[in-house]
Amino acid sequence: DRAKLLFRLASVLESNIDKYATLITQEMGKPLEQARGEIRKCVWNCKHYASDGKNYLKPQEIKADEYMKSFVQYDPLGTVLLVMPWNFPFWQVLRMAIPVLLAGNTVLLKHASNVPQCALAIQEAITEAGFPDGVFQTLLISSSQVESIIRNDKVVGVSLTGSEGAGASVASIAGQEIKPAVLELGGSDPLVVLEDADIELSCSIAEKARLGNAGQVCIAAKRFIVHNSLIEEFLVKLTDIFASYKLGDPMQITTMMGPMSSSSAHEEILEQIRQSVDQGGKIITGGGEAIISKAKFIRPTLIRIENTENILWTDEVFGPVAAVIGFDTDEEALELANDTRFGLGASVMTKDRNKAQYFIDGIESGMVFVNDFVKTDPRMPTGGVKKSGIGRELAWEGARVFTNKKTVVVVK
Ligand code: NAP
Repeated sequence: DRAKLLFRLASVLESNIDKYATLITQEMGKPLEQARGEIRKCVWNCKHYASDGKNYLKPQEIKADEYMKSFVQYDPLGTVLLVMPWNFPFWQVLRMAIPVLLAGNTVLLKHASNVPQCALAIQEAITEAGFPDGVFQTLLISSSQVESIIRNDKVVGVSLTGSEGAGASVASIAGQEIKPAVLELGGSDPLVVLEDADIELSCSIAEKARLGNAGQVCIAAKRFIVHNSLIEEFLVKLTDIFASYKLGDPMQITTMMGPMSSSSAHEEILEQIRQSVDQGGKIITGGGEAIISKAKFIRPTLIRIENTENILWTDEVFGPVAAVIGFDTDEEALELANDTRFGLGASVMTKDRNKAQYFIDGIESGMVFVNDFVKTDPRMPTGGVKKSGIGRELAWEGARVFTNKKTVVVVK
């Protein structure tokens, strides 16, 4: 029955794609076509769990000859609070909510305060799809009200996607209440370009990995680690791509990058660029702002850094700015890739399977993509290690995360 509702939700989203995409664009500024892509991904997500989700939740038999039956079944826990960010206002919510609902839980949503219309539209879509009243409820509340909701006895767990500070606060309250918390936090993903990599492909992946959604992506590659024999060519080719980016009205189909989501986000990125330069960073392209019709943009920026004390290396940069550093040996590249408190995703560009395996094994992150940029996918678990979070979303992990994994033994 729940799967049928998910199919209906997919069709509500599909038939209102322009309405929902427009809301996303108006509230947080991503180009309309990228917003449409976000809704299409939500449709895929609903269809995936509607058709394959029950396999994730099937009881798992355990072989034990002395018992007539022994298995683990996945029972829903109850009401789960989701605290969500604005950067993918539909996708972030639905990628967590759909598997959680499929498992039989109910959801309370506290969305970011700058996307209230998206928050209400998601609830409206879920109601239109025919979900029973109260199964999904948007709460228009401030972050200071989150604590009392986590502490409410009817709430059994919480999932937060956002900054480290918010994650630490929510998880500590959940800890006091002995309730599970899933945290999807920041990232400073490396893109490692090895000596044998295809340079054209590497530049194209670097562009997609850093400039989509104006760089406001947790799994964006933020640190480009490039073999010294390729770095000059890499910078020249990538500069051409970055400098040709068309900034402007996100409602226009030709616009490649919209404004930053807020004035404060814009200011923060400009400050990070200033500090990086003060610390010896060399601007290769971009490096400044553009104000178009009062909207505040950051130009796609490449900054070459010589050491890992630079702010672009030590901090997460939530905008279209990449740090580039060179290396000579694979060991050095791996050390650089892991030289961060984050561990969300990582990309490695190489044609050599053995080298790829060396990085797959050595990189400390929740996801590694070889010859591609890191993406979320309803079929694959997503999440991070180190300060990037606790737990996983999506696939069987997402479906089971808020369940009671009940061990059952029947003797006869
Ligand atoms: P944020 O300030 O932490 O906000 C995220 C959500 O948490 C919002 O709903 C916010 O509400 C709420 N919130 C903030 N402080 C809180 C607190 N002390 N207690 C309870 N709730 C609180 O994050 P952001 O700056 O908007 O988003 C960017 C960050 O999210 C980046 O670090 C990015 O990497 C991370 N992110 C991670 C993932 C992932 O999957 N790992 C995905 C997307 C983004 P208000 O809006 O009302 O403050």
